[in-house]
Amino acid sequence: MSNLPNTTQPVGIIGGGILGLTLGYWLMRSGIPVQVFERDRTPGGLAGAMDFDGLQVDRFYHVILPTDHHVIELAREVGVGERLHFQNTRVGYFEQGRMYSLSSLVEFLRFEPLTLIERARLAFFVLYCQQVKDWSHLDDIPLEQWLVRLCGRSLYQKMWLPLLRSKFDDRPGKLPATYLWARTRRMSSTRDAAAQRESMGCLLGGYQVLADALTGAIRAGGGEVHTGVTIRGLEYAQGQVVGLRTDRGRVDCQKVVSTLLPSYLQPLLPEGVRLEEQKYLGIVCLMLKLNRSLSPYYTINITDRSIPFTTVVETTRVIGPENLEGHSLVYVPKYVLPDSPYFEKTDVEIETEFLHHLQRMFPAFEREHICASRVVRARTVEPVHELGAGRSVRPVVTPLPGLIQTSTAQIYPALVNCEAVIQLAASVYAQLRPGLQGARSAQVVPVI
Ligand SMILES: Cc1cc2nc3c(=O)[nH]c(=O)nc-3n(C[C@H](O)[C@H](O)[C@H](O)COP(=O)(O)OP(=O)(O)OC[C@H]3O[C@@H](n4cnc5c(N)ncnc54)[C@H](O)[C@@H]3O)c2cc1C
Repeated sequence: MSNLPNTTQPVGIIGGGILGLTLGYWLMRSGIPVQVFERDRTPGGLAGAMDFDGLQVDRFYHVILPTDHHVIELAREVGVGERLHFQNTRVGYFEQGRMYSLSSLVEFLRFEPLTLIERARLAFFVLYCQQVKDWSHLDDIPLEQWLVRLCGRSLYQKMWLPLLRSKFDDRPGKLPATYLWARTRRMSSTRDAAAQRESMGCLLGGYQVLADALTGAIRAGGGEVHTGVTIRGLEYAQGQVVGLRTDRGRVDCQKVVSTLLPSYLQPLLPEGVRLEEQKYLGIVCLMLKLNRSLSPYYTINITDRSIPFTTVVETTRVIGPENLEGHSLVYVPKYVLPDSPYFEKTDVEIETEFLHHLQRMFPAFEREHICASRVVRARTVEPVHELGAGRSVRPVVTPLPGLIQTSTAQIYPALVNCEAVIQLAASVYAQLRPGLQGARSAQVVPVI
Protein backbone atom coordinates (compact mmCIF):
# COMPACT_ATOMS: atom_id res chain seq x y z
CA MET A 1 0.00 0.00 0.00
CA SER A 2 1.24 3.54 -0.80
CA ASN A 3 1.81 6.19 1.87
CA LEU A 4 -0.35 9.27 2.07
CA PRO A 5 0.93 12.08 -0.18
CA ASN A 6 3.29 14.75 1.06
CA THR A 7 4.20 18.06 -0.46
CA THR A 8 7.67 17.08 -1.61
CA GLN A 9 6.09 14.57 -3.98
CA PRO A 10 5.38 15.68 -7.51
CA VAL A 11 2.09 16.45 -9.15
CA GLY A 12 1.79 13.62 -11.67
CA ILE A 13 0.32 14.72 -14.99
CA ILE A 14 -1.01 12.03 -17.33
CA GLY A 15 -0.59 13.11 -20.97
CA GLY A 16 2.14 15.16 -22.64
CA GLY A 17 -0.06 16.99 -25.13
CA ILE A 18 -0.35 20.78 -25.12
CA LEU A 19 -2.68 20.66 -22.10
CA GLY A 20 -0.44 18.54 -19.88
CA LEU A 21 2.72 20.37 -20.89
CA THR A 22 1.27 23.86 -20.40
CA LEU A 23 -0.09 22.97 -16.99
CA GLY A 24 3.19 21.26 -16.07
CA TYR A 25 5.14 24.33 -17.17
CA TRP A 26 3.12 26.72 -15.01
CA LEU A 27 3.22 24.43 -11.99
CA MET A 28 6.98 24.03 -12.37
CA ARG A 29 7.40 27.80 -12.62
CA SER A 30 5.51 28.32 -9.40
CA GLY A 31 7.81 25.94 -7.56
CA ILE A 32 5.66 22.79 -7.60
CA PRO A 33 7.51 19.56 -8.40
CA VAL A 34 5.92 18.07 -11.53
CA GLN A 35 6.28 14.91 -13.57
CA VAL A 36 4.52 14.62 -16.93
CA PHE A 37 3.96 11.13 -18.39
CA GLU A 38 3.52 10.71 -22.13
CA ARG A 39 3.09 7.30 -23.72
CA ASP A 40 4.42 8.37 -27.14
CA ARG A 41 8.14 8.69 -27.73
CA THR A 42 7.72 12.44 -28.34
CA PRO A 43 5.53 14.97 -26.52
CA GLY A 44 2.88 17.00 -28.36
CA GLY A 45 -0.09 14.62 -28.64
CA LEU A 46 -2.56 15.51 -31.41
CA ALA A 47 -0.58 18.68 -32.10
CA GLY A 48 2.68 16.77 -32.52
CA ALA A 49 4.72 16.28 -35.65
CA MET A 50 5.69 13.23 -37.68
CA ASP A 51 8.21 12.41 -40.33
CA PHE A 52 6.52 12.44 -43.73
CA ASP A 53 8.90 11.37 -46.46
CA GLY A 54 11.75 13.39 -44.97
CA LEU A 55 9.66 16.40 -43.91
CA GLN A 56 8.82 17.15 -40.27
CA VAL A 57 5.13 18.04 -40.48
CA ASP A 58 2.03 18.21 -38.27
CA ARG A 59 0.36 14.81 -37.89
CA PHE A 60 -2.87 16.78 -38.23
CA TYR A 61 -3.09 20.20 -39.87
CA HIS A 62 -2.85 23.10 -37.42
CA VAL A 63 -3.18 26.84 -37.83
CA ILE A 64 -2.82 29.69 -35.39
CA LEU A 65 -5.21 32.59 -35.77
CA PRO A 66 -4.00 36.17 -35.21
CA THR A 67 -6.47 36.27 -32.30
CA ASP A 68 -4.96 33.20 -30.58
CA HIS A 69 -3.33 35.48 -28.02
CA HIS A 70 -2.65 32.78 -25.44
CA VAL A 71 -0.80 30.61 -27.97
CA ILE A 72 1.21 33.56 -29.23
CA GLU A 73 2.12 34.77 -25.73
CA LEU A 74 3.08 31.29 -24.53
CA ALA A 75 5.23 30.71 -27.62
CA ARG A 76 7.04 33.99 -26.95
CA GLU A 77 7.44 33.23 -23.26
CA VAL A 78 9.16 29.89 -23.92
CA GLY A 79 11.42 31.41 -26.57
CA VAL A 80 9.91 30.26 -29.87
CA GLY A 81 8.06 33.46 -30.78
CA GLU A 82 10.32 34.06 -33.76
CA ARG A 83 8.94 30.87 -35.35
CA LEU A 84 5.46 32.41 -35.59
CA HIS A 85 4.62 33.03 -39.21
CA PHE A 86 1.43 34.63 -40.59
CA GLN A 87 0.15 34.75 -44.17
CA ASN A 88 -2.86 36.09 -46.00
CA THR A 89 -4.93 33.09 -47.00
CA ARG A 90 -7.80 32.35 -49.34
CA VAL A 91 -10.79 30.10 -48.89
CA GLY A 92 -12.57 28.06 -51.54
CA TYR A 93 -16.13 26.78 -51.80
CA PHE A 94 -17.02 23.65 -53.79
CA GLU A 95 -20.67 23.36 -54.78
CA GLN A 96 -22.30 21.12 -57.39
CA GLY A 97 -19.07 20.28 -59.14
CA ARG A 98 -17.79 23.87 -59.29
CA MET A 99 -15.07 25.65 -57.33
CA TYR A 100 -15.58 29.24 -56.16
CA SER A 101 -13.27 31.61 -54.36
CA LEU A 102 -14.84 33.10 -51.26
CA SER A 103 -11.95 35.13 -49.95
CA SER A 104 -12.95 38.77 -50.09
CA LEU A 105 -15.96 41.02 -49.73
CA VAL A 106 -16.15 41.46 -53.51
CA GLU A 107 -16.16 37.70 -54.03
CA PHE A 108 -18.83 37.32 -51.38
CA LEU A 109 -21.00 39.96 -53.07
CA ARG A 110 -20.67 38.10 -56.38
CA PHE A 111 -21.02 34.62 -54.91
CA GLU A 112 -23.31 32.85 -57.40
CA PRO A 113 -24.39 29.77 -55.44
CA LEU A 114 -26.37 32.00 -53.06
CA THR A 115 -29.17 34.40 -54.03
CA LEU A 116 -28.91 38.06 -53.06
CA ILE A 117 -31.28 37.49 -50.14
CA GLU A 118 -29.32 34.44 -48.95
CA ARG A 119 -26.07 36.42 -49.07
CA ALA A 120 -27.66 39.26 -47.10
CA ARG A 121 -28.95 36.80 -44.48
CA LEU A 122 -25.53 35.15 -44.24
CA ALA A 123 -23.86 38.55 -43.74
CA PHE A 124 -26.45 39.38 -41.08
CA PHE A 125 -25.82 36.03 -39.38
CA VAL A 126 -22.05 36.65 -39.15
CA LEU A 127 -22.62 40.16 -37.75
CA TYR A 128 -25.18 38.80 -35.30
CA CYS A 129 -22.74 36.17 -33.99
CA GLN A 130 -20.07 38.81 -33.56
CA GLN A 131 -22.46 40.96 -31.52
CA VAL A 132 -23.79 38.22 -29.22
CA LYS A 133 -21.40 37.88 -26.28
CA ASP A 134 -23.53 35.92 -23.80
CA TRP A 135 -24.07 32.40 -25.12
CA SER A 136 -26.05 30.99 -22.18
CA HIS A 137 -29.43 31.28 -23.93
CA LEU A 138 -28.05 29.51 -27.04
CA ASP A 139 -27.10 26.41 -25.10
CA ASP A 140 -30.66 25.03 -25.14
CA ILE A 141 -31.62 26.08 -28.68
CA PRO A 142 -31.36 23.33 -31.33
CA LEU A 143 -28.89 24.42 -34.01
CA GLU A 144 -31.24 23.73 -36.92
CA GLN A 145 -34.07 25.77 -35.41
CA TRP A 146 -31.72 28.67 -34.70
CA LEU A 147 -30.15 28.64 -38.18
CA VAL A 148 -33.49 28.45 -39.97
CA ARG A 149 -34.78 31.38 -37.91
CA LEU A 150 -31.74 33.57 -38.56
CA CYS A 151 -30.73 32.50 -42.07
CA GLY A 152 -33.93 31.13 -43.62
CA ARG A 153 -34.69 27.57 -44.71
CA SER A 154 -33.17 27.86 -48.19
CA LEU A 155 -29.74 28.97 -46.90
CA TYR A 156 -29.91 26.28 -44.24
CA GLN A 157 -30.64 23.58 -46.83
CA LYS A 158 -28.18 24.86 -49.38
CA MET A 159 -25.18 25.63 -47.19
CA TRP A 160 -25.40 24.85 -43.46
CA LEU A 161 -26.95 21.39 -43.65
CA PRO A 162 -24.43 19.96 -46.16
CA LEU A 163 -21.53 21.48 -44.19
CA LEU A 164 -22.86 20.05 -40.92
CA ARG A 165 -23.49 16.63 -42.45
CA SER A 166 -19.99 16.66 -43.85
CA LYS A 167 -18.42 17.58 -40.50
CA PHE A 168 -20.56 15.17 -38.43
CA ASP A 169 -20.44 12.09 -40.65
CA ASP A 170 -24.03 12.60 -41.87
CA ARG A 171 -25.39 12.59 -38.29
CA PRO A 172 -25.20 16.10 -36.77
CA GLY A 173 -27.49 14.92 -33.94
CA LYS A 174 -28.73 17.32 -31.28
CA LEU A 175 -26.20 20.12 -31.65
CA PRO A 176 -26.84 23.35 -29.77
CA ALA A 177 -26.78 26.79 -31.41
CA THR A 178 -23.51 27.49 -29.57
CA TYR A 179 -21.67 25.23 -32.05
CA LEU A 180 -21.97 27.60 -35.00
CA TRP A 181 -22.01 30.72 -32.85
CA ALA A 182 -18.54 29.85 -31.52
CA ARG A 183 -17.23 28.72 -34.91
CA THR A 184 -18.50 31.82 -36.71
CA ARG A 185 -17.00 34.15 -34.12
CA ARG A 186 -13.64 32.37 -34.27
CA MET A 187 -13.46 32.28 -38.05
CA SER A 188 -14.61 35.87 -38.53
CA SER A 189 -11.76 36.91 -36.22
CA THR A 190 -9.28 35.83 -38.92
CA ARG A 191 -10.42 38.65 -41.17
CA ASP A 192 -8.59 41.91 -41.32
CA ALA A 193 -11.54 44.30 -41.47
CA ALA A 194 -9.64 47.04 -43.31
CA ALA A 195 -8.05 44.80 -45.93
CA GLN A 196 -10.99 42.34 -45.97
CA ARG A 197 -8.50 39.49 -46.17
CA GLU A 198 -8.12 36.40 -44.10
CA SER A 199 -4.89 35.86 -42.23
CA MET A 200 -3.69 32.61 -40.65
CA GLY A 201 -0.47 31.51 -39.05
CA CYS A 202 1.62 28.65 -37.78
CA LEU A 203 4.77 27.94 -35.86
CA LEU A 204 7.41 27.03 -38.41
CA GLY A 205 8.16 23.42 -37.50
CA GLY A 206 4.59 23.00 -36.25
CA TYR A 207 3.17 22.91 -32.73
CA GLN A 208 5.91 20.38 -32.03
CA VAL A 209 8.19 23.40 -31.59
CA LEU A 210 6.00 24.65 -28.74
CA ALA A 211 5.70 21.16 -27.21
CA ASP A 212 9.49 20.75 -27.30
CA ALA A 213 10.05 24.21 -25.82
CA LEU A 214 7.60 23.52 -22.96
CA THR A 215 9.28 20.16 -22.35
CA GLY A 216 12.70 21.81 -22.28
CA ALA A 217 11.50 24.52 -19.90
CA ILE A 218 9.91 22.00 -17.49
CA ARG A 219 13.13 19.95 -17.42
CA ALA A 220 15.32 23.05 -17.05
CA GLY A 221 13.17 24.12 -14.09
CA GLY A 222 13.69 20.80 -12.30
CA GLY A 223 10.51 19.02 -13.42
CA GLU A 224 10.40 15.84 -15.47
CA VAL A 225 8.74 14.91 -18.74
CA HIS A 226 8.84 11.15 -19.28
CA THR A 227 8.20 10.07 -22.85
CA GLY A 228 7.52 6.52 -23.95
CA VAL A 229 5.96 5.82 -20.54
CA THR A 230 2.37 4.61 -20.35
CA ILE A 231 0.19 5.04 -17.30
CA ARG A 232 -1.45 1.69 -16.52
CA GLY A 233 -3.38 2.62 -13.40
CA LEU A 234 -3.63 4.67 -10.22
CA GLU A 235 -2.31 3.97 -6.73
CA TYR A 236 -4.60 4.39 -3.71
CA ALA A 237 -4.27 4.78 0.05
CA GLN A 238 -7.12 5.36 2.49
CA GLY A 239 -9.60 6.05 -0.28
CA GLN A 240 -7.55 8.57 -2.19
CA VAL A 241 -5.32 8.59 -5.24
CA VAL A 242 -1.69 8.81 -4.09
CA GLY A 243 0.29 7.87 -7.16
CA LEU A 244 0.60 6.42 -10.61
CA ARG A 245 1.34 2.95 -11.88
CA THR A 246 3.42 3.19 -15.03
CA ASP A 247 4.80 0.45 -17.27
CA ARG A 248 8.15 1.16 -15.60
CA GLY A 249 7.04 1.16 -11.95
CA ARG A 250 5.23 3.21 -9.35
CA VAL A 251 5.41 6.97 -8.71
CA ASP A 252 4.09 8.56 -5.50
CA CYS A 253 2.31 11.87 -6.19
CA GLN A 254 0.81 14.61 -4.03
CA LYS A 255 -1.92 14.95 -6.70
CA VAL A 256 -2.63 13.31 -10.04
CA VAL A 257 -3.97 15.32 -12.98
CA SER A 258 -5.31 13.45 -15.98
CA THR A 259 -5.47 15.36 -19.26
CA LEU A 260 -6.83 12.33 -21.13
CA LEU A 261 -10.21 12.30 -22.80
CA PRO A 262 -12.70 10.41 -20.60
CA SER A 263 -12.65 7.34 -22.88
CA TYR A 264 -8.88 6.98 -22.25
CA LEU A 265 -9.09 7.72 -18.52
CA GLN A 266 -11.98 5.32 -17.84
CA PRO A 267 -9.90 2.09 -18.09
CA LEU A 268 -7.44 3.49 -15.52
CA LEU A 269 -10.17 3.92 -12.89
CA PRO A 270 -11.38 1.29 -10.45
CA GLU A 271 -14.53 -0.66 -11.26
CA GLY A 272 -17.56 1.22 -10.03
CA VAL A 273 -16.21 4.69 -10.91
CA ARG A 274 -17.97 5.66 -14.14
CA LEU A 275 -17.18 8.91 -15.92
CA GLU A 276 -19.99 10.70 -17.73
CA GLU A 277 -20.68 9.43 -21.24
CA GLN A 278 -19.06 11.61 -23.90
CA LYS A 279 -19.61 11.68 -27.66
CA TYR A 280 -16.66 12.11 -30.02
CA LEU A 281 -15.70 12.61 -33.60
CA GLY A 282 -12.81 10.71 -35.10
CA ILE A 283 -10.86 11.36 -38.26
CA VAL A 284 -9.35 9.60 -41.25
CA CYS A 285 -7.03 11.81 -43.22
CA LEU A 286 -5.07 11.39 -46.44
CA MET A 287 -1.81 13.37 -46.44
CA LEU A 288 -0.16 14.27 -49.70
CA LYS A 289 3.27 15.67 -50.43
CA LEU A 290 3.00 17.15 -53.92
CA ASN A 291 5.53 18.60 -56.32
CA ARG A 292 3.21 21.55 -57.00
CA SER A 293 0.36 23.41 -55.42
CA LEU A 294 -3.13 21.93 -55.66
CA SER A 295 -5.08 25.18 -55.42
CA PRO A 296 -4.76 28.79 -54.22
CA TYR A 297 -6.89 28.00 -51.14
CA TYR A 298 -5.80 27.18 -47.62
CA THR A 299 -9.11 25.45 -47.00
CA ILE A 300 -12.24 24.58 -48.96
CA ASN A 301 -15.85 24.40 -47.79
CA ILE A 302 -17.47 21.47 -49.55
CA THR A 303 -21.25 21.44 -49.88
CA ASP A 304 -21.23 18.98 -52.78
CA ARG A 305 -22.38 15.82 -50.99
CA SER A 306 -20.94 13.52 -53.65
CA ILE A 307 -17.50 14.33 -52.20
CA PRO A 308 -16.81 11.93 -49.31
CA PHE A 309 -14.31 14.05 -47.34
CA THR A 310 -14.95 17.11 -45.19
CA THR A 311 -12.50 19.62 -46.61
CA VAL A 312 -9.15 19.99 -48.36
CA VAL A 313 -6.44 21.82 -46.43
CA GLU A 314 -3.29 22.93 -48.21
CA THR A 315 -1.12 23.95 -45.29
CA THR A 316 1.62 25.17 -47.62
CA ARG A 317 -0.59 28.23 -48.09
CA VAL A 318 0.31 29.15 -44.50
CA ILE A 319 3.70 27.50 -44.00
CA GLY A 320 5.11 28.53 -47.37
CA PRO A 321 6.71 26.10 -49.89
CA GLU A 322 10.14 27.52 -49.01
CA ASN A 323 9.73 25.90 -45.58
CA LEU A 324 8.75 22.55 -47.12
CA GLU A 325 11.69 22.12 -49.48
CA GLY A 326 9.57 23.48 -52.32
CA HIS A 327 6.80 20.91 -51.86
CA SER A 328 3.13 21.36 -51.26
CA LEU A 329 1.52 19.71 -48.26
CA VAL A 330 -2.16 18.80 -48.51
CA TYR A 331 -4.44 17.15 -45.94
CA VAL A 332 -7.71 15.56 -47.05
CA PRO A 333 -9.63 14.82 -43.83
CA LYS A 334 -12.92 13.08 -43.31
CA TYR A 335 -14.43 13.51 -39.86
CA VAL A 336 -16.19 10.32 -38.85
CA LEU A 337 -18.03 8.84 -35.90
CA PRO A 338 -15.95 6.35 -33.88
CA ASP A 339 -18.00 3.41 -35.27
CA SER A 340 -17.45 4.48 -38.88
CA PRO A 341 -16.73 1.74 -41.46
CA TYR A 342 -13.83 3.96 -42.61
CA PHE A 343 -11.81 2.58 -39.69
CA GLU A 344 -12.09 -0.88 -41.26
CA LYS A 345 -10.95 0.29 -44.71
CA THR A 346 -7.35 -0.20 -45.76
CA ASP A 347 -5.05 2.74 -46.49
CA VAL A 348 -5.13 1.84 -50.17
CA GLU A 349 -8.94 1.85 -50.24
CA ILE A 350 -9.12 5.27 -48.58
CA GLU A 351 -6.39 6.75 -50.76
CA THR A 352 -7.96 5.40 -53.98
CA GLU A 353 -11.40 6.76 -53.06
CA PHE A 354 -10.16 10.18 -51.93
CA LEU A 355 -7.84 10.64 -54.93
CA HIS A 356 -10.69 9.87 -57.32
CA HIS A 357 -12.75 12.70 -55.83
CA LEU A 358 -9.77 15.03 -55.57
CA GLN A 359 -9.32 14.67 -59.31
CA ARG A 360 -12.99 15.58 -59.80
CA MET A 361 -12.48 18.74 -57.75
CA PHE A 362 -9.16 19.69 -59.33
CA PRO A 363 -9.11 18.54 -62.99
CA ALA A 364 -5.47 19.67 -63.40
CA PHE A 365 -4.35 17.41 -60.54
CA GLU A 366 -2.54 14.25 -61.66
CA ARG A 367 -1.20 11.29 -59.71
CA GLU A 368 2.28 12.11 -61.06
CA HIS A 369 2.20 15.22 -58.82
CA ILE A 370 2.27 13.01 -55.72
CA CYS A 371 5.73 12.59 -54.15
CA ALA A 372 4.42 10.76 -51.09
CA SER A 373 1.11 9.88 -49.46
CA ARG A 374 0.01 8.58 -46.07
CA VAL A 375 -3.30 7.81 -44.37
CA VAL A 376 -3.58 8.74 -40.67
CA ARG A 377 -6.49 7.87 -38.42
CA ALA A 378 -7.67 8.60 -34.88
CA ARG A 379 -10.94 7.25 -33.52
CA THR A 380 -11.63 9.89 -30.85
CA VAL A 381 -10.22 13.36 -31.43
CA GLU A 382 -12.98 15.90 -30.93
CA PRO A 383 -15.53 15.84 -28.11
CA VAL A 384 -19.07 16.64 -29.26
CA HIS A 385 -21.44 18.44 -26.90
CA GLU A 386 -25.18 18.25 -27.30
CA LEU A 387 -28.02 20.54 -26.20
CA GLY A 388 -27.69 21.89 -22.68
CA ALA A 389 -24.00 20.97 -22.31
CA GLY A 390 -23.25 24.32 -20.67
CA ARG A 391 -24.92 23.15 -17.47
CA SER A 392 -22.51 20.28 -16.91
CA VAL A 393 -19.16 21.10 -18.55
CA ARG A 394 -16.61 22.28 -15.94
CA PRO A 395 -12.83 22.74 -16.37
CA VAL A 396 -12.01 20.51 -13.42
CA VAL A 397 -13.76 17.35 -12.23
CA THR A 398 -12.68 15.19 -9.30
CA PRO A 399 -13.89 11.63 -9.91
CA LEU A 400 -11.84 10.42 -6.89
CA PRO A 401 -10.11 12.26 -4.03
CA GLY A 402 -6.59 13.17 -5.17
CA LEU A 403 -7.41 12.85 -8.88
CA ILE A 404 -8.11 15.88 -11.04
CA GLN A 405 -9.67 15.24 -14.41
CA THR A 406 -9.40 17.83 -17.16
CA SER A 407 -9.40 17.43 -20.93
CA THR A 408 -10.63 18.95 -24.15
CA ALA A 409 -14.03 17.42 -23.29
CA GLN A 410 -14.22 20.23 -20.74
CA ILE A 411 -13.95 23.01 -23.30
CA TYR A 412 -17.30 24.57 -24.05
CA PRO A 413 -18.72 26.52 -25.83
CA ALA A 414 -15.37 27.43 -27.46
CA LEU A 415 -14.18 25.16 -30.22
CA VAL A 416 -11.48 22.69 -29.33
CA ASN A 417 -8.15 24.15 -30.39
CA CYS A 418 -4.82 24.97 -28.75
CA GLU A 419 -5.94 28.49 -27.83
CA ALA A 420 -8.84 27.04 -25.84
CA VAL A 421 -6.57 24.29 -24.44
CA ILE A 422 -4.12 26.87 -23.05
CA GLN A 423 -7.00 28.84 -21.53
CA LEU A 424 -8.25 25.60 -19.97
CA ALA A 425 -4.76 24.95 -18.54
CA ALA A 426 -4.79 28.48 -17.05
CA SER A 427 -8.14 27.84 -15.43
CA VAL A 428 -7.05 24.44 -14.04
CA TYR A 429 -3.83 26.00 -12.74
CA ALA A 430 -5.79 28.75 -10.96
CA GLN A 431 -8.02 26.18 -9.23
CA LEU A 432 -5.24 23.78 -8.35
CA ARG A 433 -2.35 25.97 -7.31
CA PRO A 434 -3.66 27.25 -3.94
CA GLY A 435 -4.00 23.69 -2.62
CA LEU A 436 -0.45 22.67 -3.59
CA GLN A 437 2.87 23.34 -1.97
CA GLY A 438 6.38 23.14 -3.30
CA ALA A 439 9.90 24.30 -2.67
CA ARG A 440 9.06 27.91 -3.45
CA SER A 441 5.72 29.48 -2.68
CA ALA A 442 5.70 31.99 -5.54
CA GLN A 443 2.53 31.87 -7.58
CA VAL A 444 2.89 32.39 -11.30
CA VAL A 445 0.22 34.27 -13.17
CA PRO A 446 -0.10 32.49 -16.50
CA VAL A 447 -0.12 34.54 -19.68
CA ILE A 448 -3.75 35.43 -20.25
C1 LIG B 1 -7.48 17.09 -37.43
C2 LIG B 1 -7.21 18.08 -36.33
C3 LIG B 1 -6.98 19.41 -36.68
C4 LIG B 1 -6.75 20.35 -35.67
N1 LIG B 1 -6.50 21.63 -36.04
C5 LIG B 1 -6.21 22.53 -35.10
C6 LIG B 1 -5.85 23.86 -35.47
O1 LIG B 1 -5.82 24.20 -36.66
N2 LIG B 1 -5.55 24.76 -34.49
C7 LIG B 1 -5.59 24.40 -33.17
O2 LIG B 1 -5.29 25.24 -32.32
N3 LIG B 1 -5.94 23.16 -32.79
C8 LIG B 1 -6.25 22.22 -33.71
N4 LIG B 1 -6.58 20.95 -33.34
C9 LIG B 1 -6.82 20.65 -31.91
C10 LIG B 1 -5.57 20.40 -31.08
O3 LIG B 1 -4.70 19.51 -31.74
C11 LIG B 1 -5.99 19.80 -29.76
O4 LIG B 1 -6.98 20.58 -29.17
C12 LIG B 1 -4.85 19.71 -28.75
O5 LIG B 1 -3.69 19.18 -29.34
C13 LIG B 1 -5.31 18.86 -27.58
O6 LIG B 1 -4.24 18.74 -26.66
P1 LIG B 1 -4.41 17.84 -25.35
O7 LIG B 1 -3.15 17.92 -24.62
O8 LIG B 1 -5.65 18.22 -24.64
O9 LIG B 1 -4.73 16.36 -25.89
P2 LIG B 1 -3.78 15.34 -26.68
O10 LIG B 1 -2.99 16.05 -27.68
O11 LIG B 1 -4.68 14.24 -27.13
O12 LIG B 1 -2.80 14.81 -25.54
C14 LIG B 1 -3.10 13.72 -24.71
C15 LIG B 1 -1.83 12.90 -24.59
O13 LIG B 1 -2.02 11.84 -23.66
C16 LIG B 1 -1.26 10.74 -24.10
N5 LIG B 1 -1.78 9.52 -23.46
C17 LIG B 1 -2.95 8.89 -23.70
N6 LIG B 1 -3.08 7.82 -22.88
C18 LIG B 1 -1.97 7.80 -22.09
C19 LIG B 1 -1.53 6.97 -21.04
N7 LIG B 1 -2.26 5.91 -20.59
N8 LIG B 1 -0.31 7.22 -20.46
C20 LIG B 1 0.44 8.28 -20.87
N9 LIG B 1 0.06 9.12 -21.86
C21 LIG B 1 -1.13 8.89 -22.46
C22 LIG B 1 -1.46 10.75 -25.60
O14 LIG B 1 -0.43 10.04 -26.27
C23 LIG B 1 -1.42 12.25 -25.90
O15 LIG B 1 -0.12 12.69 -26.23
C24 LIG B 1 -6.78 19.97 -34.31
C25 LIG B 1 -7.00 18.63 -33.97
C26 LIG B 1 -7.20 17.68 -34.97
C27 LIG B 1 -7.42 16.25 -34.57
